[in-house]
Amino acid sequence: MDTCKAAVFVGTGKPIEIQEFPILPIEPGGALVRMQMAAICGTDVHASHLETTPAPTIFGHENIGVLAELSPIITTDVLGQKLQVGDRVIFRDAPCGRCFQCSMGESCQYSKSYGMIRSNESPYLRGGFGQYLQLSATPWLLRVPDDLSNERALLSVIGNHTCLNGIERIGGVNSADTVVIQGSGPIGLGALNQSLIGGAANVIVIGAPESRLKISSRLGATQTISLSDFPTPEARIERVKELTQGRGADIVIEASGGLTAFQEGLEMVRFGGRYLVIGQWTDYGLLSANPALLTRKVIRVQGVFSAGPRHIIRSMQSMRSIVTAPVEELITHRYELDAVNEGFEAHEKLEAMVAVILPNGDPAK
Ligand SMILES: [Zn+2]
Ligand SMILES: [Zn+2]
Repeated sequence: MDTCKAAVFVGTGKPIEIQEFPILPIEPGGALVRMQMAAICGTDVHASHLETTPAPTIFGHENIGVLAELSPIITTDVLGQKLQVGDRVIFRDAPCGRCFQCSMGESCQYSKSYGMIRSNESPYLRGGFGQYLQLSATPWLLRVPDDLSNERALLSVIGNHTCLNGIERIGGVNSADTVVIQGSGPIGLGALNQSLIGGAANVIVIGAPESRLKISSRLGATQTISLSDFPTPEARIERVKELTQGRGADIVIEASGGLTAFQEGLEMVRFGGRYLVIGQWTDYGLLSANPALLTRKVIRVQGVFSAGPRHIIRSMQSMRSIVTAPVEELITHRYELDAVNEGFEAHEKLEAMVAVILPNGDPAK
């Protein structure tokens, strides 16, 4: 039987290990993907520090790969395009269609999240940080057009799809809107792309370090607010007021995950404005915030995480034909499988904007 390598999270505080796995035959209706590129997401880095993270697990949930084997019952992708072995795809586990959340048009309660499943159960290869990944029956597949780079295709599932989901939920961006984005990481810059596509007149990005703010400007931010120039929440709120004729922003998008970001964002929203909260995934417990601001300023607040299939389709279309900015620059670090721990370090030290693993080496070489 053929085998392949994968990078396995074996527990908190331990380096990620390279292990050998059998490549089992695909299950009926399933597919085998030869991985090309998988992003090291903040969620992975965060999970690697949590005692509650299941181990052993092959991380990697933002993925692009090539179909190496395909069940004969799968002949097309979600758009009805012909699919065959050798095609590049973005993939997900199929929703069940029967649970409460599926019924409500939300993400399925039972579908598997590849990159978050234990690797000690057959068929083992369930994350993007491996040379191969096994997909369960009737996976959701989106063919990557030949003229779209791996980098752009991957970015459509890093931040951009989630931001599209959030922007849709808050009722879209209006053409004269000023949007303030708290955070200049991959989600913040996804919010920047999608706000500009939505028609925002001004997009102000708050963040650090300077290199990330420079990329923000190249991607179209009209203003940036540096955490080193404006180190306190008060100073940043003041600066946003200055840039918005004293009113505050029409829309604030929280993409920082910071402890004090929520209250700070509420202060930055104008009267009658909207606040989209994406970064607050970590459960810090009770934090202080002033709910009177919601009532007195008639603020609409919306939380969101991840995205539905339609957001991935639209996000990829935007990367192919609408976003002209050099978004490829966001992928700053590339690592082969053996160097996975270096990749995590680069992410943690904020050296990398987006670091990716190339599980089968550099496809360009
Ligand atoms: Zn992620
Ligand atoms: Zn379901």
